[in-house]
Amino acid sequence: MKVLKFGGTSVGSVESILNVKKIVEAQEEPVIVVVSALGGVTDKLIKISQLAVSGDPSYQTEYEEVAERHRAMIDAIIPAGKEKETLLTVINALLEELKSIYHGVYLIRDLSQKTSSTIVSYGERLSSHIVAVLVNGARWYDSRTFIKTEIKSGRQLLATELTTSLVKAAFSDRPQIALVPGFISTDAESGEITNLGRGGSDYTASIIAAALDASVLEIWTDVDGFMTADPKVISTAYTISELSYVEAMELCNFGAKVVYPPTIYPVCIKNIPILIKNTFNPDGKGTVIKQNIEGDKKPIKGISSINGTSLITVSGLSMVGVIGVNRRIFSALADHGISVFLVSQASSENSTSIGVRDADAAEACAVLNAEFAKEIETGAMFEMQAESGLATVAIVGENMKHTPGIAGKLFGTLGRSGINVIACAQGASETNISFVVDGNYLRKTLNVIHDSFFLSEYQVLYLFLCGVGTVGGSLIDQLAQQSEKLMKDRGLKL
Ligand code: ASP
Ligand code: MG
Repeated sequence: MKVLKFGGTSVGSVESILNVKKIVEAQEEPVIVVVSALGGVTDKLIKISQLAVSGDPSYQTEYEEVAERHRAMIDAIIPAGKEKETLLTVINALLEELKSIYHGVYLIRDLSQKTSSTIVSYGERLSSHIVAVLVNGARWYDSRTFIKTEIKSGRQLLATELTTSLVKAAFSDRPQIALVPGFISTDAESGEITNLGRGGSDYTASIIAAALDASVLEIWTDVDGFMTADPKVISTAYTISELSYVEAMELCNFGAKVVYPPTIYPVCIKNIPILIKNTFNPDGKGTVIKQNIEGDKKPIKGISSINGTSLITVSGLSMVGVIGVNRRIFSALADHGISVFLVSQASSENSTSIGVRDADAAEACAVLNAEFAKEIETGAMFEMQAESGLATVAIVGENMKHTPGIAGKLFGTLGRSGINVIACAQGASETNISFVVDGNYLRKTLNVIHDSFFLSEYQVLYLFLCGVGTVGGSLIDQLAQQSEKLMKDRGLKL
């Protein structure tokens, strides 16, 4: 049995949703299909809530647009007949409920967490009913009855054991095609509607795949898979054919938005492979994520980055050899919900640099200045310093482990290109080297590293010759053609 998940863009237009139908109906094995809300609908539902709670009557027109979008979709893809009538009754009832809830929010000007979660649940409830009728022979399941959450440290998180047993029971007798709304869940105790967080449909699919020991989890999206770098920045970036679970985790925790990060763990511990596929290019190979990668010996698999990062330097002479400074730094930041994604401390211990988002920098400084107020007053420590407008880049790959020279190659490349490294960190797991550069140099940084780690000699030669070729010379042109042919023969892409 396979689990297939289709994201918002896959079910977002007439053309793509018809592709979904084709892909699902062509499956030979039994499948459980998980769908997101129609692309953009979740954002829109949230926006309408904001309008309604602030007393802006334009929430009504926005709501009508959402309703109309679903009705128009049904008109375009479901042929007239009894099934369509029944579907329209279900959809209209859901839309009426949603309208009443918005009206209530508008009248009372109150939007509790419970109400917000109820409102966003309509996106997946609507889309899943539509797809269940569109796909021949599909039976609809209500994921609110088997995906359960509970409050842990103030947040709704998956109630894993309960969910696993409920999923097993719900699908003990299953049809060839089961259709499930992603993202939505209910609180294990109160039964109130909750969800798995933005992007959570991937996670729904992964939870079901793990509970039922699926043969594969397929995530159908709008890109060909994980890329070696952001293709919007790097024109020569290409799809990575295989990744280990660890590598995928490193990449999607840090910039690559291909899958929702919590998705990886449930299938990883069950050793179920994840296949990333493109609904808009179903023949593409996609990316496989699994335990052991044999074929690919490249030391690094991908580069990811986040812009808008700040480095905060905690420094002072009293820090040397004092036990507990780091505990205080991280507790203080955690207590204020500030996430730290890079830490670098030199062995002299008189300064620790912490990478946070630009948006958190001022608060992080204030929090740390308060935490160390006494030490700062006596002069044993300095006031916090934040440097903003930076970018953090990570190179990721498990083959880096015990391979000497990767850091050398990385920093050599950066140095030759005149790019200054402001801070860097590599954990002992050796699957990721992260470093911070001036944000203005991000594009250049990504380009030079990508060229250095991912382009073959042939590709570099080709690019070089193309450059020279524009100056002229038939010999050069011939060489360029020759190297292009060599690349083709070896299956290398530009
Ligand atoms: N519709 C939800 C969102 O946009 C869940 C998902 O798409 O995975 O966040
Ligand atoms: Mg989505």
